[in-house]
Amino acid sequence: MTQTQVFTAALMTPSPGRWVAGGGLEIRDGCIQRVLESLTATKRAALKAGCEIQDLGQVLLAPGLVNAHAHLDLSHLGGEIEPPSGMLPWVREVIEKRMAASPQLALEAALRGQARMLATGTTLVGDVDAGDTLTLEQRRAGPRSVVLREALDAGSPERRSEVLRRLDRALPSHRLHVEGLSPHAPHTVSEELLAALSDMAKQRSAPVQVHWSESEEECLWCLTGQGPFSELLGPSSGRSGLERLRRAGLLGPRTSLVHGNHPARGEAQELGSSGASLVHCPGSHQYFGRGSFPLDDYREAGVGLALGTDSLASNGDLDLRREMSLLRSSHPGLAPLEVWRAATVGGAQALGLAGRAGEFRTGAWADMVTYADLPQSPETLLEALTADLPSVEGVWIDGQKRALDPART
Ligand SMILES: [Zn+2]
Repeated sequence: MTQTQVFTAALMTPSPGRWVAGGGLEIRDGCIQRVLESLTATKRAALKAGCEIQDLGQVLLAPGLVNAHAHLDLSHLGGEIEPPSGMLPWVREVIEKRMAASPQLALEAALRGQARMLATGTTLVGDVDAGDTLTLEQRRAGPRSVVLREALDAGSPERRSEVLRRLDRALPSHRLHVEGLSPHAPHTVSEELLAALSDMAKQRSAPVQVHWSESEEECLWCLTGQGPFSELLGPSSGRSGLERLRRAGLLGPRTSLVHGNHPARGEAQELGSSGASLVHCPGSHQYFGRGSFPLDDYREAGVGLALGTDSLASNGDLDLRREMSLLRSSHPGLAPLEVWRAATVGGAQALGLAGRAGEFRTGAWADMVTYADLPQSPETLLEALTADLPSVEGVWIDGQKRALDPART
């Protein structure tokens, strides 16, 4: 049955840099039918649809935040792993602690993680999923998700077959989740498996996400087969991570690369011309004590930027507002509007959902957040939105208001 709802709020930002006072949204069956640019248009839409206007009051109505990279299934490792001296000791500790934890503990932590995301204004998450910690049914209580099914073989043909068997069956489609694939990283996934996953993603039109160039150790192993990763991974083909992705046909607009802390000369330009997005995770970057993030290289190359929390194994929270704030602190010259863009439309683009999420427009999902106690002028408002952890008052997904867990706000 077709159901129309009309919302209004004191102020709305349908897309980055646009402000509408007294307008609203017409929503039908969970999707935005029309962005209403004035109170008169809002009243007219409600009259025509024969419904009451739902007045949200003195708040800012904004598209929900997009956390473009998380691992909910590592949430039980929150606070468990001290920042390490290198990437490999961290990887070993994650593997060890993950194996030792009970599935029930992992599930409960993942559910708390989902609740935290919702309560802090995230309505869409790109969640790398290594197993089946959360069922699709359990995911429906959280944000809308792109379930990025993780694949990793560390060069082992047996593991490769096992991974391909597991991914052979596509996820059933549902409007609250989209299937994606996540070849873990170019150094942990063989070139054969990268090629097979690239074909699978094309057949399914699935978004792809890959960790790339996170640590100097992995770049060294890719190019020379040397360094700490040689213990774990054996010999290398000598190709850079990006070259491996390019050869597999994985560089394109459906792909997002996560981290990108050490791009070689020309790699930012290659990403820019391929249309792939880059997901930066400021909290995880800080946890590992990494040097400055080469943001300007990517901006100058025209790479689409998104933000992610990564997992609680390398970050203190799953709150995308905090990631915006950390990015503001680490790059004080960056315009607040660009930060807001990365946290909304940039994230949707990275997850292959441009036009469906991250902004209000006809045909987008009605995933909305209201923020209270904000200043009135757009300049100071953007400052508060991106730097000051704005107070989330309400969250809607598909036009349905979600109950927020008070313990997670
Ligand atoms: Zn990650």
